[in-house]
Amino acid sequence: MKIFRKASELVQNLLSIKDTGQSIGLVLTMGKLHDGHLSLIREAQSHNEFVICSIFINPTQFNSEDDFNSYPKTIDDDISKLENIGCNLLFLPEIQDIYPNGLVKNKTVNNFRNILCDKYRPGHFDGVTTVVDIFFNIIKPMHSYFGEKDFQQVKIIKDLVKINHHKIKIIQCPSIRDKTGMSLSSRNYKFSNNQSKTFYKLGNIIKEYINLLKQSEINNLDKLKIELQQNNINKIDYLEIRNENNLEITKDYSEARLFIALYIGDIRIIDNFKLY
Ligand code: AMP
Repeated sequence: MKIFRKASELVQNLLSIKDTGQSIGLVLTMGKLHDGHLSLIREAQSHNEFVICSIFINPTQFNSEDDFNSYPKTIDDDISKLENIGCNLLFLPEIQDIYPNGLVKNKTVNNFRNILCDKYRPGHFDGVTTVVDIFFNIIKPMHSYFGEKDFQQVKIIKDLVKINHHKIKIIQCPSIRDKTGMSLSSRNYKFSNNQSKTFYKLGNIIKEYINLLKQSEINNLDKLKIELQQNNINKIDYLEIRNENNLEITKDYSEARLFIALYIGDIRIIDNFKLY
């Protein structure tokens, strides 16, 4: 696998690939790779001749310096995972190369804002769209792959592509989950034993609740909140049922998902679950 740290070298190297008409698939990540990330790479490999993964912990999308500084860094392990899976190229830029004029972020997308994570992490999505736009401009892939775990993010990135006229198709990929049904996340490695048990319990509570919602035996989220609190999950940003197309609150579950954001200790968990 080729590894590039400088955007200019990457661009130069991609010229020959683009000249031969090979399609390029891009998977953007912040590292600490798990099976969720690898599923995006596999999906990219099934549609493209050449697959690029990037690892870049983007400072402008974090809400606190502590959270940014403590984000997991496992680059050697990540490289061997990418080599094993047959990824063609890893782009591993420095902050300076991505933000040559300092850490700025722009607000580009106005849809799907002021709700869900945007309400609780102000500015986060401006950091995300800013960095994704920079990567799209450098790499100009044909396809780029994003996980449904970050559902609101995918919606916002699809809008970014339209607004900035990128000729890139965004492919939305299903969440890879653990045995309790919760999505894998790079942040979960930090759990203590007790927190892992709570996470496991959370998965089971949500699974049962989804079944009740699907069978119309329950039509609100009050009991879910109480049950989470009984299991020491007290900091809940949101538990909401929204239509998966327009992200509006709905009581019609035919195209809806349960969206959650909550904390176990200081580890923030976001996920969403189909109700149909
Ligand atoms: P991150 O490294 O957390 O920024 O994630 C990079 C990409 O991987 C994003 O498109 C995420 O939505 C996606 N991703 C993260 N976790 C999962 C998962 N469990 N299943 C599928 N995709 C995921």
